[in-house]
Amino acid sequence: MRSAPFLGLAETLERVKGTSSKKEKVALLSSYLRGLGAEDATVAARVASGRASERGSKDEAQVGYSTLLGVLREVTGATEGDVSRSYLNHGDLGEVAEDLLANKKAQPLFAEELTLGDLDAGFSRLRSAKGEGSASAKKRIVKSLLLAATPLEGKYLVKALTGEMRTGLVTGLLEEAIGAAYGLSKEEAARAHMVLGDVGAFAGRAAAGTAASVRIEPFRPVNFMLAEPFATARGISEHFARTVYAEYKYDGVRAQVHRAGGEVRIYSRRLEDITSSFPEIVESFRGGAGEFILDGEAVPFADGRPLPFQLLQRRLRRMEDFEEAARRAPVTYFAFDILFSGGEETVHLPLSQRRRILREVVAGTPARLAETSDVKSEEEVQAAFRRSRELGYEGLVVKDPEEPYAMGKRGSGWAKLKEELDTLDAVIVAAEYGHGKRAGVISDYTFAVRDGGELKTVGKAYSGLTDKEIQEMTRRLKEITLEDFGYRRTVRAEIVVEVAFDSVQRSDRHDSGYALRFPRIKRIRTDKGPSDIDDIGKVERIFRGQKLKVDEV
Ligand code: AMP
Repeated sequence: MRSAPFLGLAETLERVKGTSSKKEKVALLSSYLRGLGAEDATVAARVASGRASERGSKDEAQVGYSTLLGVLREVTGATEGDVSRSYLNHGDLGEVAEDLLANKKAQPLFAEELTLGDLDAGFSRLRSAKGEGSASAKKRIVKSLLLAATPLEGKYLVKALTGEMRTGLVTGLLEEAIGAAYGLSKEEAARAHMVLGDVGAFAGRAAAGTAASVRIEPFRPVNFMLAEPFATARGISEHFARTVYAEYKYDGVRAQVHRAGGEVRIYSRRLEDITSSFPEIVESFRGGAGEFILDGEAVPFADGRPLPFQLLQRRLRRMEDFEEAARRAPVTYFAFDILFSGGEETVHLPLSQRRRILREVVAGTPARLAETSDVKSEEEVQAAFRRSRELGYEGLVVKDPEEPYAMGKRGSGWAKLKEELDTLDAVIVAAEYGHGKRAGVISDYTFAVRDGGELKTVGKAYSGLTDKEIQEMTRRLKEITLEDFGYRRTVRAEIVVEVAFDSVQRSDRHDSGYALRFPRIKRIRTDKGPSDIDDIGKVERIFRGQKLKVDEV
């Protein structure tokens, strides 16, 4: 089958961008995709998601701004002034390309229509341009594509190459459009997309009619299961209400280890190939014949104890060679789950069964099984937590032995409890009525810290107080209301609360420019007044002091 023209995709994306209705975006893309064969569908979906290569691929096809601008100037004869005027006007390199290509000077020798196949071939050449001379090779490839492109095609080509699509086609909508185009149920679409990890591969399988039979397999990383945060041991024991596994929370780098055919590869939480950062782990699993996919944490570890996570940072940024890294901070892989073993998926099995399989796989390798103890009551959870902290771990991850592995989900099967950061004393400045069980009482509190002579909000907490405290709070907040907007009210800054949280993020949701993640009220500081609260400097210090986790690097 001849590959479809790229123009059809560019026109569809332009229409998708032009409507604000999500339903219409999905309908436009799905009716376009329906007409494509599997290979074209792969490229089209990938481009629609703003990618020029498969997710998790070792090589990227992305091209830097300066290369693209240089090529655009060559192809169109635009001056630097033209380019910067256009950029100031549009603020988007794709639109700059469209603008400039409308006055293209150079013409291709043969005015042939660009196809999706041409695009894919160009992307693959970009991916393989490496090492010396790669910059000029990339330039040549981009140039030949842009020469053949109409202004609209140029726009979407550049958008794909910069990863800045801006059509409002978020992942969920793309998945929906692909599912709708090829008649998949929502569940089938979600599962195939999740397992394949790449929207292009998913669209290709859907177009070929084989999406429903997609299985997990080695060297195709899948999204990790995540744990739900809990503030207290009691919260955890009430959540599960039965005997569960408490594992140490290892502070390292989450890593999925794949082995098949004598090869070992390691993937990060963002599904990037990080094999070369952890040769010791590769070594740990080399040699065996079995095939598997493990989930676990790479932890700097020596003399039976974990070392500070920070020791891994230089290695992750490839700032030191491996021998130096291994001397400073040798890494041990602590495996806690298995997703695939001996040719079969294991994700659907209960954790208790997965652990049995995992134990066998890990036995006889230098890797270790994450340590587990059975807990049920609040006291048992608390004791396990203390033990973990004493041994230098970060806290606990508590897991339901009956639950399957929920790929990519903050599943209710895993709960985490970790040491809280420093707390903040803040003053309540606004409040809202709650929902559900909390309807009729004022249970959501927006709080602020001091910034010079002003108060700046940093978060909103829903939890932490007892029902009785909330009732008392409701009464007091009504008394000190400044403005009443019905469900929401502003109040005089009088009530000081001590707030715990998981981390500090930059955010424009609050006027301080920061937001606390998972804030909860530890207690009402009746002993403190608004002049005793913390200031923005402390929030900034906590923000800066947070260690850089690999998924944020
Ligand atoms: P957090 O980074 O605080 O959201 O906590 C979740 C992370 O804890 C996971 O992504 C893992 O990297 C890490 N972790 C450490 N030990 C375990 C464990 N035993 N089970 C699951 N995750 C763990």
